[in-house]
Amino acid sequence: MSMVVRPSLEEISKQEIQKLSDENRLWKEHRLESPASNWSVVDGTKQLMLCTNDYLGLADNDDLKKASIEAIRAYGVGSGAVRVISGTMSIHKQLEEELARFKRRPASITFQSGYVTNYGVLSTILGEDDLVFSDELNHGSIIDGIRMSRAQKVVYRHNDMESLAEELEKAKPKGKMLIVTDAVFSMEGDIAPLPGIAKLAAKHGAITYVDDAHGDGVLGEAGRGAVNHFGLEGKIDIEMGTFSKAFGSVGGYVAAGENFCEMLRNKVRAFLLSGSHPPAVAAANLEAIRYVQKNPGVVKKLWSNTRYFKKGLKSTGFNIGRSETPITPIMIGEDRLAQRMADELFKEGVFVIPIVFPMVPRDAARIRTIVNAKHTESDLDFALSRLEKVGRKLSLI
Ligand SMILES: *Cc1c(COP(=O)(O)O)cnc(C)c1O
Repeated sequence: MSMVVRPSLEEISKQEIQKLSDENRLWKEHRLESPASNWSVVDGTKQLMLCTNDYLGLADNDDLKKASIEAIRAYGVGSGAVRVISGTMSIHKQLEEELARFKRRPASITFQSGYVTNYGVLSTILGEDDLVFSDELNHGSIIDGIRMSRAQKVVYRHNDMESLAEELEKAKPKGKMLIVTDAVFSMEGDIAPLPGIAKLAAKHGAITYVDDAHGDGVLGEAGRGAVNHFGLEGKIDIEMGTFSKAFGSVGGYVAAGENFCEMLRNKVRAFLLSGSHPPAVAAANLEAIRYVQKNPGVVKKLWSNTRYFKKGLKSTGFNIGRSETPITPIMIGEDRLAQRMADELFKEGVFVIPIVFPMVPRDAARIRTIVNAKHTESDLDFALSRLEKVGRKLSLI
């Protein structure tokens, strides 16, 4: 008997890694040895954190930790099943009810993560006859959900309402039309023109889907998100969000009409076939939305820090792009230079991540910074002085 000799799985994987390395696409794992906070211990050194999505400092908040610990005492560490079998605990229902009220929508449904939400929901609600209009800078989880749905896709120019209008005029799908956009774009920090999108959607009878991952806890009254920020409550059909950013823990959700959420509860396979959140997670998420309503000052602090930091960066001479939110990119250009800048800053005690191709176009490499509500003015002064020092060393300013 002859044997077919093929490369082993380990060999194939090694080649893949080499290819990624050649394309500068391998990421380096940094290790936190403390909570994510304004300062953290990273790879054994104390670092001022400018790269978490923990906008409000809730990842290590005492009230959230207390709520989680109490939930573990009351319910244990696991739910024991998927939601549809016996994995729905009263804490899960309480979260969905209070979340719907927080977002001022009739209903909500939670999922394991934001990625799972976009992937599961878009692939469920879209079919081959449908046509989806997607901003060119939308998050990968949206792109993957659309791909999985097999719907037709039209990509419109970033935040460009003329481009979207043109595409809508041309469209004649057999099925429904859906416009999907990030509310806040995670690499640029700019905000989608939701009033324009809502208007075009109404004119053409399209459904609207807004991903508020970077809007929740950041925009709107008490961090209710981008739709509240624009006064569009009730005018966007589907609001999606995550608990892994401003809300400090993990989880995704949709807030929308009652029938829509009930339909998702019965059809989204990622919901039907995967275990529900541990009670500690549901409790932390519930406490997060209570916390921002009780302490709206924390959102205001995030914004005063953001203004202070942006002003400092601008007066130092950095190009900070078109950001309108706490996501503030420092435009660098060359990938290697952005990498070098991040390495130098790490040595100075400032932790930032370089954003390079293919996350952004070639020669649009940047350092992305995000301040949080826990940073003090002296923290921000420290960061600004180190950024200036390294910027001068690398002749960026
Ligand atoms: C982070 C992010 C997600 C994914 O959220 P997770 O809960 O971390 O899976 C989805 N959409 C956007 C726009 C994001 O920034």
